[in-house]
Amino acid sequence: MNKKTGKNIYLSIVIPLYNEEENIEILYREIIAAVDGKYSDFEIIFSNDGSSDGSLERLKKLHQTDKRVKIINFRKNFGQSAAISAGFNHCKGDVVVTLDGDLQNDPADIPAVVDKLNEGYDIVNGWRKKRKDKMLTKKIPSFFGNKLISFITRVKLHDYGCSLRAFKKDVAKSLKLYGEMHRYIPAIASRIGIKSVEIPVNHRERRHGKSQYGLGRTIRVILDLITIKYLLTYSHRPLQIFGGVGLFMMGTGFISGLYITYSKYFLNQSADRPLLFLTVLLIFLGFQVITLGLVAEMLSRIYHEGLNKNVYSVRDFIGFTDEDIDDRP
Ligand code: UDP
Ligand code: MG
Repeated sequence: MNKKTGKNIYLSIVIPLYNEEENIEILYREIIAAVDGKYSDFEIIFSNDGSSDGSLERLKKLHQTDKRVKIINFRKNFGQSAAISAGFNHCKGDVVVTLDGDLQNDPADIPAVVDKLNEGYDIVNGWRKKRKDKMLTKKIPSFFGNKLISFITRVKLHDYGCSLRAFKKDVAKSLKLYGEMHRYIPAIASRIGIKSVEIPVNHRERRHGKSQYGLGRTIRVILDLITIKYLLTYSHRPLQIFGGVGLFMMGTGFISGLYITYSKYFLNQSADRPLLFLTVLLIFLGFQVITLGLVAEMLSRIYHEGLNKNVYSVRDFIGFTDEDIDDRP
């Protein structure tokens, strides 16, 4: 640990939580053991993502004994990305570290990711080299998922799903996350030229509570991948993708239209046949693809980014100053 730089750092630790009551105290103690005294100061922000168990009570108890523990309490379950995003919006550290609340990430790795960040990186990602998860529902889909994400986003990492990460403050603040987007953070960031680096970290089995995700997540991850690819490649020129498809359909429709006209007037065949319907369909649909694609994508971007509207809603903030929650939606 580089004491000299560490001592000047205010560290924010952001943890999304959904029904993790049995893990909270152990996690808190492990974090304190890992970071206490190493930095000028720190805060631990727990985003309680609508837990229905006793998580909130446990968090409140922790906050009473340690004011460095802060709670963002969501009105309902908005998902892991939203929970991380809320932590980013209201943290005040120079360096922000995220990790899971289920003890699968090892808080003892926090100083290592922070040190790596201090070497001059914008984002440091954990790489769960020896992953301790179920083969069928986690390891296998994640093996293919990682390969696919790497191929499509062209950001080369081994492990996109690891929640243990360190960010420079401005990088964390500039990210808007929704859907399953937290796993695409390195890719989203690469869009504005932010470079990520990866270091191996410890990974442990889940001891208490149960995983919130099963195989169903794979589908959501893949759907988000389509959006990411769009944002990464075509967002500045949406016409290139929608326009391409639309023009192709209209072009084909136009040619078949010409053919029908020709065969009616020169070959004396009836125009009243299936090809006529196909022609009309292609021209109409082609036009629609162009306009609908444009409108839908632009609208979704304005909805998520332009209006500065958050995808989550907070019931209460505990332990924050008014200043920290100023940017409350
Ligand atoms: N989580 C959350 N909201 C959700 C689902 C999960 O805040 O809707 C939290 C969860 O409490 C944990 C982290 O996100 O701290 C990762 O979830 P989980 O361990 O279920 O994911 P896995 O490790 O199985 O990928
Ligand atoms: Mg987990």
